[in-house]
Parts: sequence; C-alpha cells; structure tokens
Amino acid sequence: MQRLKGIGVSPGVVAGRAVVLIQRAQVLRYQIAPARVDVEIERLEESRARSRRQLLEIQEQLARRRPELSSLFDAQLLMLDDPMLLPRAAAMVRDQRVNAEWAVQQVFHEFGAVFDEVADPYLRERRGDVADLVGRVRMNLRKHDATPRDLLRELDEASILVADELTPSVAAQVDWTKVRGFATDAGSRTYHTAILARSLDVPAVVGLHNASEQVQAGQIVVVDGTASELIIGPAPEELARAAHHADDRRPAAIVDAERRRPASTSDGVPIRLDANIEFPDDLAAARYAGAEGIGLYRSEFLLADRIDDVRDEDRQYEIYRRMIEGMAPGGVTVRTFDLDEEQLASRLTHHPLGSGWAADEPRSARQGLRGLRLSLTRPDLFRVQLRALLRAGRHGRLRIMFPFVSSVEQLRDARQMVAQAAADLERRGEHPAPVPIGVMIEVPAAAYTADLLAREVDFFTIGTNDLIQYCLAVDRADERVSRLYEPLHPAILRMILMVRRAATRQRIPVSLCGEMASDPAIVTLLVGLGLTEFSMTPGAIPIAKQVLSELRSDELRALARRILKLSTVDDIERVLLAALGRLTPIKGVTS
Ligand code: PEP
Ligand code: MG
Repeated sequence: MQRLKGIGVSPGVVAGRAVVLIQRAQVLRYQIAPARVDVEIERLEESRARSRRQLLEIQEQLARRRPELSSLFDAQLLMLDDPMLLPRAAAMVRDQRVNAEWAVQQVFHEFGAVFDEVADPYLRERRGDVADLVGRVRMNLRKHDATPRDLLRELDEASILVADELTPSVAAQVDWTKVRGFATDAGSRTYHTAILARSLDVPAVVGLHNASEQVQAGQIVVVDGTASELIIGPAPEELARAAHHADDRRPAAIVDAERRRPASTSDGVPIRLDANIEFPDDLAAARYAGAEGIGLYRSEFLLADRIDDVRDEDRQYEIYRRMIEGMAPGGVTVRTFDLDEEQLASRLTHHPLGSGWAADEPRSARQGLRGLRLSLTRPDLFRVQLRALLRAGRHGRLRIMFPFVSSVEQLRDARQMVAQAAADLERRGEHPAPVPIGVMIEVPAAAYTADLLAREVDFFTIGTNDLIQYCLAVDRADERVSRLYEPLHPAILRMILMVRRAATRQRIPVSLCGEMASDPAIVTLLVGLGLTEFSMTPGAIPIAKQVLSELRSDELRALARRILKLSTVDDIERVLLAALGRLTPIKGVTS
C-alpha cells in the first residue's frame, strides 16, 4: 500500500480500478481484459497495413509528379517493419495488457531516445520520420475521433481516473457515470479542476506530482478527497472505509435538483444550455445532465442505427415524435441529414453497415457534396425527411436546421422544399403546424454572409467543429496537422462575433453547438462575446452551469473585449485562464 499526498478539492472517499490518462501525449492508458489482447494486436496489425497502403500511395503520387522525392518515404516504410517498433508494441500489449495506443506511444519514446543519443545529424533527423510514422499509425488506430469518453465506455462501472492533468474539454467528455473519482498530477489549485469536481460531486485529489506514473492501469486505488490522499493498492480496511463512505454521499434528489436548475451568470443573465445528441437513447443522458432541450440532433445517425431506408417516412416520424415528446417542455432542434454521397449510397442499396458508412467514420474528412447540398440533389429523399419532421412538429417544440449551408440560394431552395413537403401533407389531409427553420453556420462563406442569411431564417446555430477546420484549413482527423486546430484562433473568435452580431441585428436567436462549447473556460469567453445559448455534449452541461453561475456577465464582456485585441492563441489562452482564476471565487480552495 502506498499513500500519495496531494490537495483535496472535493470531499469523499471512493475506491475503484485505475484508468490512467496521459493527456499531454493525448493517450489514454488502460488495462485490457485478457480476452481483448488479440483484438488490440489485430488493431495494431490493421493500422500497420493501412499505414503501408497510404505510404505507398503517397510514394506513387510523388513518383508521377516529383520522382526525385519519392524515396523520401522509404525510411518510413522500412521502419514500419522494424521489429523495434510495431512488433515491440504488440509484445507490450501482450505482456503488460495495455491498450494499443499506449503501447505505440511508449515504443515511440524508447525509439526516439535512441535517436537523441546518436551524434550523426543526418540520423538524428530521422527522429522526425519516426514521429511522423507514429502519428500515422496512431491516426490509423483510431476508428474515429475517439475521445476519452468513447474509450471509457468500455470500462468497468467503478473506475478512478488518474491523469497527469485534466483539462475541461477532456473532463467534459468523460462518462462520469462510470468514473467515480479522479486524481491528477497537476492542477494544484487551478480553478477548473476544483469546480469540476464539486459540480460533479465526485471525490478528487489534485497536485499529486507523479501519480500518473506511479499508478498502474487496472490497479485498485482509493481517492480520499477529505484527507487529500490517493492510496495505491489499499489495505482491506481502506476499501471498507471507501465502501462505508459511499453511503453518505449527498442525497440523489438534491444533486438532481441542482442539475436541473436553469443556468445563469452570477448577475442573473439567463444562459440556455442544450444537449447535442446522436441517438434517440441519448435523450436520457441529456435530461439527466440538466439540458433544457436538444440543440442539435444529428439525424443522419438514424441511418446508422435504426432506419435501413431513408425513404421510410413513418419510421422517421415516429422517432422524431418520440424525441419531441420525451424532451417536452424543452424543444428539439433536428438537423436534416448531414451525409455525403458515399454514406447515402450505402443506405440506398441496403448495404450492411460498414460497407459504405460506419457511424464512427471521421466526420471531419467529409466535404464536397454533403449536408444540405446533397439533400437538394435528392428532392425525393429530402421531402420524405421534411414531411416526417413537419408531421412530428405537431407534437411539441421542434425546429428544423440545415447543415453545411454556403449560400442564400441553397437556403431558399431548401425553404421551397419545406413548402412543398407541407403541401404534400395538406393534400393528404394532414395540417402541419409552422416549424422554425434555421441554418448551421459552419462554412466560412455562411459566416461572412450571416447578415444576408439572417433575414431569411428563424435562427442560427454556429457549428464551430466545421467552421474551425474550414476557416483554418486544418483536417482534424489528420493528427499531423490537428494541433493547428485552434478554437481560440483570433479568426474564429472574430467570425463568431460577426455571426452573433448579425443575429442580434436581425433579432433571431443564435446558439453555438461545436465542441468548443463543451470547454467551460471557452464558454465563459463566448458569453463575453454576447452568446447566451449553447448546445454541448451532455456531460459538459453541469460543469458549464457551475462555472457560469460564479461569474458576472459585465466582467466577461470586458474580458472578451481585451481578448479580441490579442494576436496569438497562446496570449489568448493565457489571459483567459489567468482572468478566470481571478474572477472565479473558488469556494473552499485558497490559492
Ligand atoms: C459542427 O460542425 O460544429 C457540428 C456541430 O456539426 P458536426 O460536428 O456534426 O459536423
Ligand atoms: Mg458540422
């Protein structure tokens, strides 16, 4: 048994199996069950094969255009077969029973250290090749933009997260119904970790220096937030103490009531917090988290889940209706299908899932004929969805939203389709109620013409996931450039402000539903930019609510004005975090 002393930021005692998250390297280390060893090794093998295909393809293209450069990738192809790299990672998976991502990262560290020691500058430069290759292997290991939340879905019920640090955006993605407590190396008294633990009502200890190195994934640990300790390999008495404490947690009814209270800043400016969901079953999580409504239902996931045929109007109607009724009195905003051609084709030909589209395919890679653009090329299918939606709209508060709009013409065409769908229903003797129509602002062209679009819609939703990648020309799914994906880039902040102003001038509601809304520090800045409606991953709602309730709106506006004058992301981040630390009174924690 080993006791590490830190700073308790949220009281209580819990025991569980450790999951280790090394956020700096963006890798989660967790222990895998013996039965999963083969699966992980197979993933490694698939990733190797895919990486080889990609490298050969790149080489082939180069050979055609720049033959003198095509040998550049020989070294990477050789390394792919080096026994020190992937076979060594596979051995690590087998011997230490860790996940493949972690093993690859460890091997990279070992491999990189060897390069650092060689004197030959040419050879030392090959370290860059290794890094590039490892980035590719890791990218290919990911079935999609796997977040810690996705990975944690496979874990035991009672886990304890031990991390080097826990940034708000990662914390917001963790499934806190499975993680009972957390311990971090860093975060002595950082504002967000303390607030996070209190708002989630989970015991937490921070400032443990190197706990994430000392704890083995899968080890049993106890987090004692009251005594400021993390106990590794606890004695039976410690486990009994944790079990005993489990009984005197705050009554569920009180915690529930707190979760459901509407959000506002400390000076009473109401803030609307809705949830983003992909599956109708996520509705329960949204309600549990205290969402006022559904701000983004990604309806294309219907096709990945329960509907085999996009032409099935009745089934779509039933699903929309149940969702609207399930969320009442809150509203539901349904985004019409955001598919691309290939995904649509796979549904039309009834291919089994995966042959054309898997729900977890990297979404950010899709562009071109997608979203509303694609819907407009298939009026037959689009009208089915619109009819289903208009029928469902009679059962509660529904809004229809179009994705990937890049011009006023597209919007007008889409509105005409809505009118035609309504006319179809009238002819059938059904009388649809009017439904508000909005657009996602997620293409720079839409942001720059927000004033024009605002005259012709009932609401805006800013989709920063796409907006950032198209504005900054960064493909998020490509690990090698993904670090350039910066929500706090001055260009993004200006665009958001421009869209917010256009909406205010036209007096239409505007919300923001990209992932950046799930980061409580960023959400405060967005409130400073004048936004008061957000839609986010359900787990982020309680945290955002807590953080905002401790801040004054006038202070946030002043902070945003200051930040808008800064030129770099680093400066913006520094000023934002420093200011929040000062503005936020951290109850029970002194700095
Ligand atoms: C967005 O682009 O910000 C968004 C919410 O849509 P998606 O992530 O589904 O593309
Ligand atoms: Mg989008």
